[in-house]
Amino acid sequence: MKIEIADRLKKLPPYLFIEIDKMKRKAKDEGVDIIDLGIGDPDLPTLKPVIEEMQKEIWDAKNHQYPLGSGLKEFRVAVTEWYKKRFGVDFDPDTEAMALIGSKEAIGHLPLAFVNPGDVVLIPDPGYPVYNAGTIFAEGIPYIMPLLEKNGFLPDLDSIPSDILKKAKLMFINYPNNPTAAIAPKSFYEKVVAFAKKNSIIVCHDAAYSEMFYEGAKSPSFFNAEGAKDVGIEMFSFSKTFNMTGWRLGYAVGHKDLIAGLASVKGNLDSGQFHAIQRAGIKALQLPDKWTDDLRKTYEARRDVLVSGLKSLGWSVNNPKATFYVWIKVPEKFASSNKDVKSISSELVKFLLQNCGIVSTPGVGFGKYGEGYIRMTICTTEERLKEAVKRLKEKCRF
Ligand SMILES: *Cc1c(COP(=O)(O)O)cnc(C)c1O
Repeated sequence: MKIEIADRLKKLPPYLFIEIDKMKRKAKDEGVDIIDLGIGDPDLPTLKPVIEEMQKEIWDAKNHQYPLGSGLKEFRVAVTEWYKKRFGVDFDPDTEAMALIGSKEAIGHLPLAFVNPGDVVLIPDPGYPVYNAGTIFAEGIPYIMPLLEKNGFLPDLDSIPSDILKKAKLMFINYPNNPTAAIAPKSFYEKVVAFAKKNSIIVCHDAAYSEMFYEGAKSPSFFNAEGAKDVGIEMFSFSKTFNMTGWRLGYAVGHKDLIAGLASVKGNLDSGQFHAIQRAGIKALQLPDKWTDDLRKTYEARRDVLVSGLKSLGWSVNNPKATFYVWIKVPEKFASSNKDVKSISSELVKFLLQNCGIVSTPGVGFGKYGEGYIRMTICTTEERLKEAVKRLKEKCRF
């Protein structure tokens, strides 16, 4: 029998990283000493008190059954207390907060709850690919909001045509931003709230990097904007903040009807996150700031090594105040000597892999407005970043 995949899967853009992954594997097999600045996944272990809590909880048989529902009450209370302490915003743990199996699934599932076939979803470009995939799975129509450097990588809401606005049901935003590392001021969120109310558009703020900031550039929450709770939901992830990518834990807070809709989709598709993991998550939220401060210091020192190294090459980079990404403009000279290639960002990524053994990500993998940039992460040691800079200095004098 010939197996045919569904049209919705065929509608997803080709996975651009496959070719790079192949090249990476080939280079590894050939014995090249690869420095991987490609993946956004912390190299450091989960914080120790969280692991210790898990060790305790895993033996408790009452944690072993189907978790079901919106998460443990204790978890939701810990979430709302943390949120209040960090952002000064109140949420009702019973109706305005829920546990997630990581924020990715919730971002992907949200359109199933609120988007009808033919509804438009406003999506940032460059952006995390799940906004687009979730929209397509719900038979929504993605409308791209370009994130341009001249606008501080914030979408230009005034440029969205009125016929699109009439059909728009949902919009995704994400600050601190992956991949550009841009941060959004509270005034931007205020603008988004007014825009959403005027056009009856639901706002989903992806706050995966809210705790990864440097030099005290602590981001506000979307809900620090007056009236945000009327229009929005926010997704938070334990992955990057506490080095817990493999654990799969996140939470959502927001308008109670948005929480209920998402919970309804999830209730039909999954059975919740392991209670032991939720309890370890409570521990993470209750840790003294010192733990995350130390992590931020580690990343800041790494950032300084990579950014100063790139700058010494004459490359145009913004010194990121948040996230663990460095968004780098493809150097002019490299671009002008490779005029005929289909994607200049993919070309530079290939060049860096073949000549320096450095893995990075082409901006075009995040959407067409990511073209012309590459992304490097600082999820490796200072020592390896120094080595990367050294190799760049030797091989990349264009
Ligand atoms: C990493 C990431 C997430 C997803 O994190 P989870 O591990 O699923 O919680 C969501 N959004 C962005 C922008 C990310 O980079």
